[in-house]
Amino acid sequence: MVPTAENFDVVVVGGGPGGYAAALYGAAAGLNVAMVEKDKVGGTCLHRGCIPAKELLETASVFRSVGSADRYGVKVGPAELDFSTTMARKQQVIDQLHKGLTGLVKSRKISVFAGTGTLGPERTVTVTGADGDTAELVGRHVILAAGSVARTIPGFDVDGKVVLTSDEVFELTELPSRVAVIGGGAIGCEFASMMADLGSQVTVLEALPQILPGVDKDVVAVTLRAFKGRNIDVRTGVKVEGHDPREGGTTVRFGDGEALDVDAVIVSVGRRPWSDTLGLDGTGVKVDDRGFIAVDEWVPHRRGRRVGGGRRHRHPGPGPRRLRRGHPRGEADPR
Ligand SMILES: Cc1cc2nc3c(=O)[nH]c(=O)nc-3n(C[C@H](O)[C@H](O)[C@H](O)COP(=O)(O)OP(=O)(O)OC[C@H]3O[C@@H](n4cnc5c(N)ncnc54)[C@H](O)[C@@H]3O)c2cc1C
Repeated sequence: MVPTAENFDVVVVGGGPGGYAAALYGAAAGLNVAMVEKDKVGGTCLHRGCIPAKELLETASVFRSVGSADRYGVKVGPAELDFSTTMARKQQVIDQLHKGLTGLVKSRKISVFAGTGTLGPERTVTVTGADGDTAELVGRHVILAAGSVARTIPGFDVDGKVVLTSDEVFELTELPSRVAVIGGGAIGCEFASMMADLGSQVTVLEALPQILPGVDKDVVAVTLRAFKGRNIDVRTGVKVEGHDPREGGTTVRFGDGEALDVDAVIVSVGRRPWSDTLGLDGTGVKVDDRGFIAVDEWVPHRRGRRVGGGRRHRHPGPGPRRLRRGHPRGEADPR
């Protein structure tokens, strides 16, 4: 990265759906926009979230359909999974969308800076690249859209083999035979469903009395029925106490002295805001004890022109906000 000091109408920190949608809207309004991204434009959603999750769910659905094809009189022989092809296709989909998105951002003349953005005084953003070079940007407005990372549980050290978060699930090279999913929220249930369809024996361990907390009871009931039909063991109201790793697997301790032998554990206990990389100390931007930036109902941070974007603040995520604006897909319209 070439050191530079540049002025922009808007500097967006974070290139996920919150950040790139804001950048595209700004550019569409004729503003001179910079976007800082420390990893890949597209963020969690494109690289480690919605897109790969839906891609793998689609594979699972195809596998399930083929497996039950003979019931419809369609003779195909026993279905067999080639997991390396599954994962290669998942990556192909991501790469294709990433190419389209970077092309779109470029075509709208948004200046993309690769590196970690930290906020300084007077709406400056310092970008530190992987090689340690820095660039200084000044925005009339700064949008903080750093997103979130998977939470973990003490005692469950993520190693990408036996203990995984959603990030590592998308990097698996083999499908584990027996899986414990800790956390029965939306993401945990997606993984449970997908892995059971692909052939894993899945147990969901949820501390609350029901899976999918906050979701309508009717929807929960349908999900539970579907899970039962796929032999997914759902254990609610159980607290995970710890685990005893061994070569190639672990034993998860939970509930009242119960134990479960598995090949992999997926820790899916929510996400925490990534505000700690933004260098907010001393900037006057208020962060609560959970790392969320304090914003009012209209999102802009009260102190001035910085605004929170995406997931870090206590405001509905981008999807619900866009839906309220009436976009049919709940997607940002990038024009
Ligand atoms: C497995 C999974 C499945 C999901 N499925 C769905 C779904 O079906 N539907 C749905 O609506 N949502 C889904 N989500 C949630 C969705 O991914 C998030 O709501 C969305 O990505 C949030 O967008 P964002 O821009 O706020 O943050 P992110 O997508 O996390 O993007 C933030 C970006 O900021 C960058 N960044 C962070 N700090 C800095 C810094 N200091 N400097 C520069 N860059 C920085 C990060 O590298 C990242 O690229 C899913 C999430 C997961 C994990």
